[in-house]
Amino acid sequence: MVFDAYDLADSSRYLSQLLAHAHQLGASDVHLESTHGALRVRLRVDGLLHEQPGPAPAIGEAVLSRIKILANLDIAERRLPQDGELAGHTLGKPQCSYRISTLPTIYGENLVVRVLDTQVQNLALDALGLQPEQAQQLRQSLAEGHGLVMFTGPTGSGKTVSLYACVQSLNQSHLSLATIEDPTEIRLPGVTQVNIHERIGLTFAHALRAVLRQDPDVLMVGEIRDNDTANMAMRAAQTGHLVLSTLHTRDAPSAWLRLLHMGVPAYQVVSGVRLIVAQRLLRRLCPHCRVPLGQAHPHGQALGLDLSAQQQAFAPVGCARCHQGYRGRVGVFQLMPVTHGLEQAVLQSASARQLRQEAQRQGVGTLREQARARVCEGLTSIDEALTQTPADDPP
Ligand SMILES: [Zn+2]
Repeated sequence: MVFDAYDLADSSRYLSQLLAHAHQLGASDVHLESTHGALRVRLRVDGLLHEQPGPAPAIGEAVLSRIKILANLDIAERRLPQDGELAGHTLGKPQCSYRISTLPTIYGENLVVRVLDTQVQNLALDALGLQPEQAQQLRQSLAEGHGLVMFTGPTGSGKTVSLYACVQSLNQSHLSLATIEDPTEIRLPGVTQVNIHERIGLTFAHALRAVLRQDPDVLMVGEIRDNDTANMAMRAAQTGHLVLSTLHTRDAPSAWLRLLHMGVPAYQVVSGVRLIVAQRLLRRLCPHCRVPLGQAHPHGQALGLDLSAQQQAFAPVGCARCHQGYRGRVGVFQLMPVTHGLEQAVLQSASARQLRQEAQRQGVGTLREQARARVCEGLTSIDEALTQTPADDPP
């Protein structure tokens, strides 16, 4: 494909304006999608996509090619998916790196740019949004120095940042720390970081086996996806290592079952796991424009709020300082430590519902309860709480 000089200059100008706007909004991803004759452009901000003006149809392909050239991808290859990386300084953002992926579709090529802020300063445990007693519980589990601490939730729930914050809090010279990821998202000086490479056989399980021979104290395994990794991580956790990892489950009680379904024997699950943390990110209401809700919000009751009593809630409006009434996100967490009652329940093959009841008996707040509390504090809206957290079991 040959572009004339006019197209190249225009595409390059469009791209730098788009990325500057993406940074200004704090976007996590830039989506460029080929549609009928035009490029559709959207930015993901605080978890939701927002439409942006696309480039002139004549330079759409030049914009895609420009990114591919910068990321050292093959610009002639448009029939196979490709992925690559782009260093931030190429685009004047040295603190960022960009992960590029292309996908051939029936209308042409789609390209997604993931913006990774590699700066370390935001990685404090205190910045995650844990309630004070939750932060204390997490610190205590990390301080024990062995066992498995799991973070669970869907994609985009903030698990990875939580993992990094834990690793960073333990990053001291008397401890050997290693991470195994697909791929590394944030570079942590002083930590051994390994990227898995499945095409050549370097799987999570393979890398974990190799890292364990290197005398580590703390291991972070990006994700537990298979039996091999689950069993090996569990054995490492039982032999004096602190293992941090993630799972995809709706809440903390179901994470116990997921480990059992992955073929880890129940007695190992209860002796290996120290703490399971379920989490979600809810969009944070803009304090400058939010308005208090009257008593008659139709969804207040669905969330279990009694707005006629002491409880209050706010609704988003939108102003120059925010995005449709929201700016940033607030984390909600459910922390479930292993206890005698829970051990018994797991060993007796309890169902997910029974495990949730056991959690409730131990005073483990649900994600919905935590979200409700954040609504009453005016941090987030009723709609965010309802859409982002799983409903509690009916009594
Ligand atoms: Zn506002």
